[in-house]
Amino acid sequence: MNESARPVLSIAVPLYNEADNVGPLLDRLAIVAERLRAQFEIEVVLVNDGSSDGTLQAIRSEMQRRSSIVLVNLSRNFGHQLAATAGLEIARGDAIVLMDGDLQDPPELIETFVQKWREGYDVVYAVRRSRRGESRFKLVTARAFYRVIKRLTKVSIPLDAGDFRLMSRRVVEALRRSPERHRFLRGMVSWVGFNQTAVEYDRDVRHAGTTKYPVTKMLRFAMDGITSFSDIPLRFASYFGFAVSAIAFVYALVVIGFKLFSLKPPGYTPGWASTIVAVLFLGGVQLMSLGILGEYLGRVYDEVKGRPLYLISDIERS
Ligand code: UDP
Ligand code: MG
Repeated sequence: MNESARPVLSIAVPLYNEADNVGPLLDRLAIVAERLRAQFEIEVVLVNDGSSDGTLQAIRSEMQRRSSIVLVNLSRNFGHQLAATAGLEIARGDAIVLMDGDLQDPPELIETFVQKWREGYDVVYAVRRSRRGESRFKLVTARAFYRVIKRLTKVSIPLDAGDFRLMSRRVVEALRRSPERHRFLRGMVSWVGFNQTAVEYDRDVRHAGTTKYPVTKMLRFAMDGITSFSDIPLRFASYFGFAVSAIAFVYALVVIGFKLFSLKPPGYTPGWASTIVAVLFLGGVQLMSLGILGEYLGRVYDEVKGRPLYLISDIERS
């Protein structure tokens, strides 16, 4: 706990080109903050992730008439997960909420989070009961992704939960000590452990603007999640190799058998069909295995370089 009588509640929000959402977001946060003010000292940490629209100006103009806002300007666009990480590191709360800035995560849920935190939970994460206004493609792929990653890792990552959550100070400290670059925060928080609980909610439609997660970024994020929490894909080549060798061994026995008894195996007619199928198939498997290796190796390379996760150009407070 900090020195003042009330604990500090921080709300960290990464923002990338959300000019039209800043005002409405802060309006709704202000209402929630008003209700929590008796219990908490509240700060809102807005991370401007190298926005190229009017986000910075929008935040500055809001800061003129609101207090307790911390504006963190990153030196360029570092991406959602790193901007969120910056927000968590700057936030000084005893409890810290991470949320999106497009009002898809309803700020009112923070009150429920806080209640659970008071009951002794270290992590209160929001599970999406429904997602309004998302494309069918996103719904289907997101649903499938959470189920696939669950099968691939021993860390129990909850289904259908995003990064909207409250974390206690010790959880955030644990994240600070995890310097990995290809961050899959929702998985890292699960990995930390302590007491975690879920709260269900209906995800709203984006208030203004468009998603900052096009399909390519979504795919990369999914790959980050899988590679940082599972080495099963890496073992795919060896599992597959064993399986193919076993089949080849049995096949060899059959061929020898036919030879010994001077029989002609079925499909003996000299032809290239079976050969070419086997060559293409194995070629495909080999390239795929190389690709999987590459996905991991590329990430190892990035980690080894040890560059800072993000750079802050300045911090302004109101
Ligand atoms: N965001 C960010 N940097 C980026 C991309 C996104 O800070 O490079 C922020 C964005 O402004 C929003 C949050 O991350 O507050 C989630 O992004 P978005 O709403 O576009 O993702 P979606 O909800 O469509 O998955
Ligand atoms: Mg969104």
